[in-house]
Amino acid sequence: MESIETQSYNPAPSKSNFKNIKIGPVTFNSQNFALIAGPCSIESLEQMQKVANNLCSHSIQLFRGGIWKLRTNPHSFQGLGSEALSIVSEIKKSFSFDLITEITDPRQVETLLPHIGAFQVGARNMYNYSLLKELGKTSVPVILKRGFSATVDEWIKASDYLITGGNENVILCERGIRTFETSSRYTFDLNGALVAQNLSGLPVIVDPSHGIGLREYVPRLLLAAAASGLDGAIVEMHPEPDKALSDGRQSLDFISFDEMLPKLDGILNIIGKNRV
Ligand code: PEP
Ligand code: MN
Repeated sequence: MESIETQSYNPAPSKSNFKNIKIGPVTFNSQNFALIAGPCSIESLEQMQKVANNLCSHSIQLFRGGIWKLRTNPHSFQGLGSEALSIVSEIKKSFSFDLITEITDPRQVETLLPHIGAFQVGARNMYNYSLLKELGKTSVPVILKRGFSATVDEWIKASDYLITGGNENVILCERGIRTFETSSRYTFDLNGALVAQNLSGLPVIVDPSHGIGLREYVPRLLLAAAASGLDGAIVEMHPEPDKALSDGRQSLDFISFDEMLPKLDGILNIIGKNRV
């Protein structure tokens, strides 16, 4: 890829001419804004039932929920692991949704396949090329998060490991990068998301929850991403964020999540996109 200085690219908003990518019933294309929501971690059946009730009441079909968590502190909650799979199976009996969860190890591919609509590759694993090569052998969609010190060029090259490996169902996700700024958890890089959308030809979604780390700002970042023409968002929500076992500080409660939706729909209406 040419450097940003030398390349000539159209500064106009991307025409997003990527091929349609489907996760379950949800199509990622330039007419749609796909919304994915759920807790950082799957914690209990009761928690997931509450989340499912809320999301299904808004016709949201893509749920997120971490099973194996890569935590900075080894003494922090590491996720329920395979125990979470029986919770997912149980709530799927009552609710219809596709689960998006992070794969942290290539050995999890077979275990996860029957349960998921898409793999998430987390920021810490964007550079894990053996994991990317393994996921390139499947046709299951992959949401590839940007590493928190990755340039846009490195992020797009990581997506190429999946694509040249044979899996073209790749969605990029901007989730905040490290800068000198310490007032928020990460610095949400709308610049990078827009440039990546234009240069990669892939759908680009955002994760405003990790992007800023502070729940009071999450809805406005998500709305800004929608207004800028990006292709979707993944957002953390929890029935009781202050009791969450991971990332509670950035998780929306149901009231703030519900209040955001009409604003999102209003913005999408103005720019001519559908919420899916
Ligand atoms: C997550 O989605 O909960 C997560 C750990 O994300 P990231 O890889 O972006 O830190
Ligand atoms: Mn999280």
